[in-house]
This record gives sequence, structure tokens and C-alpha cells, in this order.
Amino acid sequence: MSFFVRLFTTATSVHAYRLSRLFFTHRENISNDLTLGSPAYPGVLYYFTVAIFFLTAVLIYRRWNQRPLSVEALARAQVVEDMKDAFIVCDSRFRFLDANQSARLLFPELNDLRPGEAIKDDEKLKKSGELQVQSGGRRRVYEVTHTHIRREGRGSGVCIILHDITEREKLLKQLYIQAAFDSLMNIYNRGAFFRLSALLVEEEKGCSYALLMIDVDYFKTVNDTYGHQCGDAVLKALGRILKESFGGENIVGRYGGEEMIALLKGFSPSQAHAAAEMLCKNIENTPVFYRNCIIRTTVSIGVGHSPAGQEHLLQDMLLQADQALYLAKSQGRNQACLHQAEEVSV
Ligand code: GH3
Ligand code: MG
Ligand code: MG
Repeated sequence: MSFFVRLFTTATSVHAYRLSRLFFTHRENISNDLTLGSPAYPGVLYYFTVAIFFLTAVLIYRRWNQRPLSVEALARAQVVEDMKDAFIVCDSRFRFLDANQSARLLFPELNDLRPGEAIKDDEKLKKSGELQVQSGGRRRVYEVTHTHIRREGRGSGVCIILHDITEREKLLKQLYIQAAFDSLMNIYNRGAFFRLSALLVEEEKGCSYALLMIDVDYFKTVNDTYGHQCGDAVLKALGRILKESFGGENIVGRYGGEEMIALLKGFSPSQAHAAAEMLCKNIENTPVFYRNCIIRTTVSIGVGHSPAGQEHLLQDMLLQADQALYLAKSQGRNQACLHQAEEVSV
């Protein structure tokens, strides 16, 4: 390229020199409008050729000056255009400037925008953090990050990058479920139950709590009679009933084996006792169908309580509920017993 530029420039200079000589030698002819009559007049074709030379030289010079993007810049532009992350450039007032292909696919409305125009519903892009977008009929989760562009110390724009974290979110959710839930009963496992319960009683100290220990009656007989798979089906059904019975802010978990536990928020002792009795009835009246068998089970429940306005100690409530459970078992099972505070003689 530089060879052609030099060639044209040299050729143009030679002709320019010749022209200027012509001009100065025959100045009088030119000033008297006698150029055409001058013996040294080189002809229209010559002037025309020189003009073309000049023009070409100017064009080449201009083109040379606005060099195409360097390989590095091209590479950057290509990578941004092809990347899976959506990339949007806005000015400092979040008006649209540019977007890559992924961004245009995610927000088709960007295709209708010209640089400097406002983005409809731009609030969602102004905040960094998690953003949920309905894309192709599916809900996707994106992590939005902002990179502020500074020119001469002043903010002149912002690059918005939306990174798809849907799969990561799904995996995290699965991991959380595996870590916190009992896979058979689909209620919290023991660790998660106590962690969440401790948080709840710490955060909401002002109300009363009740703790229920629930044990399946003669569950060994179910296993021995119908097999362990059937026993599992019964435990699964019990988990469902428990969740349905104590939703909202109450917490339900598997304590271990065929024992379950529930923390009820805002229940007085009598309310908790009534709720436990109701659960006994509910379970008694809900048979479990397994293959060709109908299995009826009952549970015994011990109820511990912690009144409002005092420190709620889960271990104390657990001990109370455990003692009350033994009472319920010894009194014939399929019933709920409320722990009675021992009277202190003065
Ligand atoms: P009680 O009324 O005194 O509580 O009698 P029980 O038979 O329920 O009590 P026991 O402690 O003798 O038996 C509990 C049984 O629960 C024994 C154990 O095999 C069974 N079990 C514990 N976990 C599971 C489980 O995940 N699946 C099945 N199928 N059985 C389980
Ligand atoms: Mg037991
Ligand atoms: Mg039992």
C-alpha cells in the first residue's frame, strides 16, 4: 500500500512541478487569457491527467489516514460481537449506544433503537445484580454487571454485561435441596431444621413457640408386615401430611428414623395441643395405598412450649416434647400430650 502512495505522490509532485514552471514561464499569457494560444500549452488531456493524479493522491492520502482497525481492535470487536454474554453500551444517562448480537436477541427492541435513543424499560438494566428475563418462553436468570467508562476523568458511558447464570442457579438450588431436605420425606433434615429454627426464635423473640415430637406408632410392624419399601411410602405420605398441616412460618423436619419434629410459631400451649390432636386424627384418617395394600398408621405426639417474652431455648422445648411423647406412648399411643410444667412447692 505504501508503495502505491509513494508512487502517486511522486508522480503528482513531478507534474505539479511541471505545471508550476509552465505557469511562471507563461504568466503573461495566463494573465491575458491567452493560455490557449501559448506555444507551451500542453493540452486539455494533460491538465485532466494531472487533476486525476491530484485527486487520486488526495483520496489515497485520506484513506491512508483513516487506517482500518488494527488486528487487536478487530479481535476485540469480534469477540464482543460473538460472545454469549449480552453486551450493551449506553451513555452516562443510560441511552442506547451499541449492543452485541446476544443482547439484540435477548432484547429485540434494541434492534429498533438508534444511538442516543432511550431504552424502553431501562430500569432493569440500571441495577447490577440478578435479573430475571423471559426469553423464548423460558425464564432465564442473568447476572448484570456495570463497567463505567471514564474519559478524561469524567464518566462518559457504561458497559452493561448480562451473564446467563440460569444453570448455575439451578445447580445451587439442587445443592441446597440436597443439603437441607430429607430425600424420602421431602421435609427439612435434622440439621437444617435446627439451623432454621434457631434463626427463627432468635429473630422473632416476641412470640410464643411450641415444639412437637411426632413418632409413628408400631412402625416396625409396618416394615415387618409389608416390607421396608412400603414403610418408605408411609413415611413419604406422612411428610406430605405434615407439610400440609403446618405451612407458613412453621418449620417441619425429620428428626431421624420414623420420628418427625415441628416448630410452631405463635401457638399457645392449648393451641399447640389442639393442633397436635388434629394431626393425630388426620393421620389416622388418611390411609396409605401401596401396591394392593391399604396401610393405616397412627402417631403419638409430645408437645413442648416456650411462652412469649422469654428466651426460647430449643433444647429445653425438645426435652419437654420428648417427655410428653413418652407419656403419649405410655397412655396408649395415637394421641398428643402437652408437657406440664412441674409445680414448684414453696
Ligand atoms: P413405637 O410405637 O414404640 O414407636 O414402635 P415402633 O415400632 O415405631 O418403634 P421402633 O423404634 O421399635 O421401630 C422403629 C422402626 O422404624 C425401626 C426402623 O427400621 C424403622 N425405620 C426407621 N427409619 C426408617 C426408614 O427410613 N424407612 C423404613 N422403611 N423404616 C424405617
Ligand atoms: Mg421412634
Ligand atoms: Mg415409633
